[in-house]
Amino acid sequence: MRSAGAIAGVARGVVLGWALGGACAWAQPPAAAGDPYAQPRRALLAELRRQARDGAGEARIDPAALELLARVPRHAYVPAAQRAHAYANRPLAIGYGQTISQPYIVALMTSLAQPKPGQKILEVGTGSGYQAAVLAESGARVYTIEIVAPLAAQARQRLRRYRNVETRMGDGYYGWQEAAPFDAIVVTAAASSIPPPLLAQLKPGGRMVIPVGSSFHAQTLMRVSKDAAGRVRTRQVLPVRFVPLTGGR
Ligand code: SAH
Repeated sequence: MRSAGAIAGVARGVVLGWALGGACAWAQPPAAAGDPYAQPRRALLAELRRQARDGAGEARIDPAALELLARVPRHAYVPAAQRAHAYANRPLAIGYGQTISQPYIVALMTSLAQPKPGQKILEVGTGSGYQAAVLAESGARVYTIEIVAPLAAQARQRLRRYRNVETRMGDGYYGWQEAAPFDAIVVTAAASSIPPPLLAQLKPGGRMVIPVGSSFHAQTLMRVSKDAAGRVRTRQVLPVRFVPLTGGR
């Protein structure tokens, strides 16, 4: 298994930006006064809205999730060298062999997590901090944990503006016991199976979104729900490609 790679979602019948060899429709955003990213951001949102409409079943994206994405400047969460591509619908390298997920996948995972004001959400794999920011825009309290120290430190700085986000450096395989239980858990790295500590930290009535698979080439995004009686139900959402979840030893 490679230790680094692109995160990508492969939607049924949907050709995604990253799959086109990195072609970027917005290589030269107009230098509009104020926000030079406004137009590429609008174009990305329009593309995501089209994809959201096309999604079927579990892969359907709630328009409310797209509104959350629209409020977060993705260019502020990528390295300077990647900023020109910040609004391309594909994953981007963030250093240390890690990636910021494709916007389509962030939208889908947010939609599946259904964040609501006042709820508690755990994210495993802070990375750039972008997914945490999107979840935080809902008004939920977000706990996000990252195992790579420099990424954790960088994301902590970026996320300081959110009073409803707590960051931590550590092994997210074990969750965040002191803050548990969570209404939703979003895991943004692929696990070979669902980590039992995370399942234990999920509230009855809660849901977990997690890519599961043993290699880069055979991963499935899963939606795991726990009913009021504590019974767990697992559904497949989409074939995906994430960097591996490390730790857990
Ligand atoms: N959610 C991120 C995507 C990050 S990629 C974003 O929006 O940018 C996945 C991240 O998971 C990587 O940064 C990787 O270092 C981290 N990771 C992998 N295993 C982990 C573990 N056991 N605990 C916490 N983070 C982990």
